[in-house]
Amino acid sequence: MNYAPPSPPANLEAFSFDNSYARLPQQFFARVAPTPVAEPWLIKLNRQLAGELGLDVETLEREGAQIFSGNRVPEGADPLAMAYAGHQFGTFVPQLGDGRAILLGEVIDRSGQRRDIQLKGPGQTPFSRRGDGRAALGPVLREYIVSEAMFALGIPTTRALAAVVTGQPVYREQILPGAIVTRVAASHMRVGTFQFFAARGDMASVKALADYAIERHYPEVKDEARPYLAFYKAVTARQAELIARWLHVGFIHGVMNTDNMTISGETIDFGPCAFLDVYDPKKVFSSIDQFGRYAYASQPGIGQWNLARLAETLVPLFDEDEGTAVELANDALGEYGAIFQRHWLNGMRAKIGLVTSEDGDLDLVQALLTAMHQSEADFTLTFRRLSDSAGEPTAETAFKALFASPEAIDPWLRDWRARLSREDKDPAARATAMKAVNPAYIPRNHRIEQAIAAATEDADFSLFEALVDVTARPYDDQPGFSAYQAPPEPEEEVQRTFCGT
Ligand code: AMP
Ligand code: MG
Repeated sequence: MNYAPPSPPANLEAFSFDNSYARLPQQFFARVAPTPVAEPWLIKLNRQLAGELGLDVETLEREGAQIFSGNRVPEGADPLAMAYAGHQFGTFVPQLGDGRAILLGEVIDRSGQRRDIQLKGPGQTPFSRRGDGRAALGPVLREYIVSEAMFALGIPTTRALAAVVTGQPVYREQILPGAIVTRVAASHMRVGTFQFFAARGDMASVKALADYAIERHYPEVKDEARPYLAFYKAVTARQAELIARWLHVGFIHGVMNTDNMTISGETIDFGPCAFLDVYDPKKVFSSIDQFGRYAYASQPGIGQWNLARLAETLVPLFDEDEGTAVELANDALGEYGAIFQRHWLNGMRAKIGLVTSEDGDLDLVQALLTAMHQSEADFTLTFRRLSDSAGEPTAETAFKALFASPEAIDPWLRDWRARLSREDKDPAARATAMKAVNPAYIPRNHRIEQAIAAATEDADFSLFEALVDVTARPYDDQPGFSAYQAPPEPEEEVQRTFCGT
């Protein structure tokens, strides 16, 4: 008898890579392999996302430490670091690029979408400048927690497929455990990717990049009379909506440099990001944002500023006549404000339970925000308790307790009830609809910090796991987890968050 040994599957990890970015001209990237690490250990595999990507979950549970650390590059990967430039806090840097990230390749997910699989923290690349190409455990956990929470909130975002510790220290102000997060994105093209080529006067590459971005994210614009202008408008519209949605959940990105703004419209780069506790439009958490450039309420304006930088790179593609091209760009950028405002106001209407629109709605929303600011009310709790109040008037007591005094909010409540009475909607149904847009759970900063401290100091990942679990169902009341709804006690408050470098 012939006992042939069973042949191993061709690709044990079963990533069916199809690497379109690697087929672009060579100035778009540098091929580079991850640098192996000493003793990788899998902290977390996102099983749901792995399934979505058509990956074999059991294999990844077993082999994930090797794969997601970069120690073993899966078959079919074509690892590379992308080239990009960017305005950092308003200053143009002509070359940034993936200094601590390596794109393994792209897979087509179960719904037919092309997704990038990227390791963040896998060692040096030609773009590392003086950096070590590594990531510390804290920022890796923060990115995992917050990007997955954003996804659960329904906001376009990159995802986290896995987190590993490397078994090697990284040297920052302190010595910290090294880690790597595997990021999944619709793509990693940024405003700064266009700037990289435009700054070199390489319009052929700008055009090639635009063609690629259109094919990948905006194929519908190909039929337009001016496809590049339509592309630009489409990016603008997606970013306007994205930033409106950040504001609806109290999210502060913290480092909205042009290299951290995607072409796809996904949130990317969870460095010094944080969610508001107390409502304060000027709130800044980032330790490197000294002048409040990226404060909560500054984000819409900064979005427009970044999109103006994108327009500058594309303008020669809008029209052969320079004057006409600039005029088209200005008109397109001019639409941003109205698009943002429409998304923002519609979202705010939903947050206060309105299903129709009236002229006075903006004033009603602003009056609530003003009262919240004056009373230092918790942003998330205010809207959640308001949702309860819509269904059950006795719940108003808990809502009112968030404000400095009854006088601070009673007049607003009267106006709100009067406005609701002009709509024909069942109170219970209204409360349910409101709870579907007003989360009970966000990854509060103090919880993130506690999870990072336990993991970093004691290799205890239980708080990280719990936070990931709770924020995976942000809109559901989860009995037994009400503590995760609570704002920080004064001694728990986090004033500063740090960049993931
Ligand atoms: P970020 O703060 O993630 O937006 O990164 C800004 C730029 O700095 C990007 O070009 C990064 O690749 C680069 N960078 C950040 N941290 C490191 C590091 N530890 N090693 C090398 N490059 C880094
Ligand atoms: Mg970045």
